[in-house]
Amino acid sequence: MHDVIIIGSGPAGYTAAIYAARAGLRPIVFAGAITAGGALMNTTEVENFPGFPDAVMGPELMEKMQAQAEKFGAEVRFQDITAVDLTGEVKSVTTDEDEVLTAKSVILALGSEYKKLGIDSEARFSGHGVSYCATCDGFFFKNQHIAVVGGGDSAVEEATFLARFGSKVTIIHRRDELRASKIMAQRAIDHPKIEFAWNSEVAEIHGEQKMTGLTLRDTVTGETRELDATGLFVAIGHLPRTDIVYGQVELNDEGYVVVDHPTTRTSLPGVFACGDVVDHIYRQAITAAGTGCAAALDAERHLVALEDTDARPLGAADDTALAVAVAVAEERGLPVPIPEPTDHPKGNPMASKAPAVTDATFKAEVLDSDKPVLVDFWAEWCPPCRMMGPIIDEIAAEMGGSLKVVKIDTDDNPMTSRDYGIVSIPTFNIYKGGELVGSVVGGQPKRNLVKAINKAIGR
Ligand code: NAP
Repeated sequence: MHDVIIIGSGPAGYTAAIYAARAGLRPIVFAGAITAGGALMNTTEVENFPGFPDAVMGPELMEKMQAQAEKFGAEVRFQDITAVDLTGEVKSVTTDEDEVLTAKSVILALGSEYKKLGIDSEARFSGHGVSYCATCDGFFFKNQHIAVVGGGDSAVEEATFLARFGSKVTIIHRRDELRASKIMAQRAIDHPKIEFAWNSEVAEIHGEQKMTGLTLRDTVTGETRELDATGLFVAIGHLPRTDIVYGQVELNDEGYVVVDHPTTRTSLPGVFACGDVVDHIYRQAITAAGTGCAAALDAERHLVALEDTDARPLGAADDTALAVAVAVAEERGLPVPIPEPTDHPKGNPMASKAPAVTDATFKAEVLDSDKPVLVDFWAEWCPPCRMMGPIIDEIAAEMGGSLKVVKIDTDDNPMTSRDYGIVSIPTFNIYKGGELVGSVVGGQPKRNLVKAINKAIGR
């Protein structure tokens, strides 16, 4: 049984890991299969994190936090947790590889996810013109009219970033006043390429394969008008990621975990929460890191209190942990006995090891292949692409007999990306007999991708 399991790896999760590891608690950090590092992995320069007077890139900051946690003995696993049982003294978590681990304490640093507009056409065009990440997808909208929805810091930051690529950027905001901080708002207002559609909301997204325009509705008069934007970046805030703890720890009306301020104690003993999953007010990297530190200190105190009251001989606690893990696995129909956690943390994921194809070799290697081909459209700077690397390698190893797996760098090979309408990476296209027979956009759990491949190639 572990002392501390940390779920989540933004500034909150990694700071909790640094403190817990330095306290000798050897925490296991479930960093997420495709979301490791959290929201900062999708930002550019962070100008307000103390200690970096010349700013720091979001992904670099997160990689440094991860390295610092690992240096002190934290084990970082790039897996998702799909279920938890936090109610008893022994907590259990189930990974996306159906492994069950137990711990005396759990720190929830689950973060938040992008809020969606909630209109029907949004899902249809997601990855085909609609995006939630300017740093990931902005590159694909060079010299195009780009729209950004929202009036907060995220929206103006994304708009300012996207203005590097687009011919014009229109910020669509439902009111006539920005919520963003003065300094960031002023940068957008002063920018020659940025315009505003005030008192406006997106009523409809148009297009066939890709988005070709928007209908805006005036939030005051109800009148509609067309906007000829070909990219839509949604930056309207975030929602706490509390699905897996719903019904166990107490949540407030908005779905945030309730903690006993100023501590990070949740409604369940031994379960602590920090970062964006708790905080709907500040939501800054530095405040998340601060609460991550507090969560580790709270967990440490909890473990000391357990030791003081735990009269069981060493080993008995582990027997209970094993019994709980076996019971959970049996209840969920998962394999038992439970595999031991590995002593060897998986390395920081990088691009897949699949052979690279180029614009020049695409026809010979992909279209003329006598086997179906999975093509991973990726780029060096794209964190979700890197997170998918090990998954692609596993698929290549498992399906090698029936599937060829290659990757293509979209930065260096714009023609192929353009020919197949790639506007978001990672995109995984499946080709058979020279035809495109399937496509999956965005970071995916392995099982989703395998399902899509099997469907496309008729396995
Ligand atoms: P936010 O501050 O909550 O702003 C969300 C914006 O989206 C608001 O303008 C809101 O409109 C609008 N909105 C919400 N739901 C909508 C809907 N369904 N349809 C249309 N518009 C909708 O979120 P955020 O911009 O993501 O920022 C979150 C936190 O992160 C803030 O504390 C911010 O300071 C911080 N942040 C900081 C930086 C930085 O310092 N570099 C960068 C990004 C974010 P209303 O204004 O009408 O409510």
